[in-house]
Amino acid sequence: MPTYDFRCGGCRKKYTLTMSITDRDRKRIKCPKCGSSKKEAVFSSFFAKTSRKS
Ligand SMILES: [Zn+2]
Repeated sequence: MPTYDFRCGGCRKKYTLTMSITDRDRKRIKCPKCGSSKKEAVFSSFFAKTSRKS
């Protein structure tokens, strides 16, 4: 199963979850630290290309 990295929109901690693609779409993903469902997906290669937004 793939792993996904997220950054919490509440406490700003990064966390990694392992789940299927369908689970990622269907499940409400919550931060394991603070329980916030606000999050950003972090993709390292993608992130490197777009790290500099104007
Ligand atoms: Zn959090």
